[in-house]
Amino acid sequence: MPDKELHIDTQVIHAAYAADPDTGSTTIPIHLSTAFAYKSAEDIAAVFAGKDAGFIYSRINNPTTNLFEQRMTALDDGLGAVACASGMAAITSTVLALAGQGDQIISGQSIFGGTHSLFNRTFSRIGIETSFVESTNAESYRDAITDRTKLIFVETLGNPKLDVPDIVAISAVAREHQIPLIVDNTATTPALLKPKTLGADVVIYSTSKYLNGHGNAIGGLILDCGTFDWSSPRTTYLHELHARVRHFAFLASLRTHICRDIGTCPSPFNVFLTAIGIDSLAVRMERHCDNSLKIARALSEDARVDEVRYPGLESHSDHAVAKRQFNERYGALITLNVGTRERAFAVINGVEHIQRLANLGDAKSLIIHPASTFCREASEDERTAMGVNEGLIRLAVGIEHADDILDDLDRGLKKLN
Ligand SMILES: *Cc1c(COP(=O)(O)O)cnc(C)c1O
Repeated sequence: MPDKELHIDTQVIHAAYAADPDTGSTTIPIHLSTAFAYKSAEDIAAVFAGKDAGFIYSRINNPTTNLFEQRMTALDDGLGAVACASGMAAITSTVLALAGQGDQIISGQSIFGGTHSLFNRTFSRIGIETSFVESTNAESYRDAITDRTKLIFVETLGNPKLDVPDIVAISAVAREHQIPLIVDNTATTPALLKPKTLGADVVIYSTSKYLNGHGNAIGGLILDCGTFDWSSPRTTYLHELHARVRHFAFLASLRTHICRDIGTCPSPFNVFLTAIGIDSLAVRMERHCDNSLKIARALSEDARVDEVRYPGLESHSDHAVAKRQFNERYGALITLNVGTRERAFAVINGVEHIQRLANLGDAKSLIIHPASTFCREASEDERTAMGVNEGLIRLAVGIEHADDILDDLDRGLKKLN
């Protein structure tokens, strides 16, 4: 049976590799080698010329990283993937492969703070402009399209707003205008959502989060779904490569130009840690999500909390879209509003086991105050667009027992009395 017909629970354990052909090792080997030797000058020349497959130098490719890329490609039923040192490196490389000075990109406004800053400040300095639009309104993407539009970027689950864009509707707009749709699937992972099935052309991951799962290695990945025609008038930077390698143009641009030139390669050791994490992705996501629903329901009946946002609650404005897109589970981010910064800090300081830190997708439950941390640099208007105010607390629910997490939150909420 081909990989794509297996359930995700099985794919994460068996897809794309079984055992090392030389040693029988079933865990992927760590190749901490900077470069790779060949028997003759002719052999190495053939690899450089692209006539023979082979590893050259670990900034370009590496056998450990390659196995990880193959497994990820199988999970999302893609054409291929390029791993990066971080999620930000993956997003930067994707945009630079598709856009240059004088171009415009369109992005949902409710996105990860680092990505917002990259688009808003860093890219604008080199002449790539971003139009931020209301994330969940497909028509707002259409309205922002110009002759210079090179890509549309969207996240599967806005953070910390926790809004859920209708990817099918946005993909229809992108397709109509021959614009590639880039979907950041970090918060949902292939366990909840396979972006290709909803019309994504390129998938981005920060593997630092749920894919790694244990908060021990930063990493990123770019995956080409194989759905986009890279000879589109929108993707001019890829036309030369398209003439040579056809549908591999985007991946070839990343591998042989962008990621190679910038040096976005991950450490094979970090890749190894992430590859191990993926084995348990499906069961972890189940627990993350089941815990979250239980906690969100309990908190929404708690009088000490003004508002609870979680896409799994029927009261959530995007519940229907989330239900359709997320495989009947709703992710592991919850926000609660307790009114003021003072009260939010009291709750955050009052918990014992839940860790106060800026991450998500860890086995451990995590808690943070967005307005004073990762949304600190945003203007008042931007914060409002992101759904952030002074009383907001974000929880990244871990895989501990739900009742213990609830008891800990109760310990924090008692500080409000
Ligand atoms: C964390 C995150 C990123 C950035 O990834 P890093 O690995 O931290 O560079 C990008 N997108 C989303 C949705 C994220 O949560």
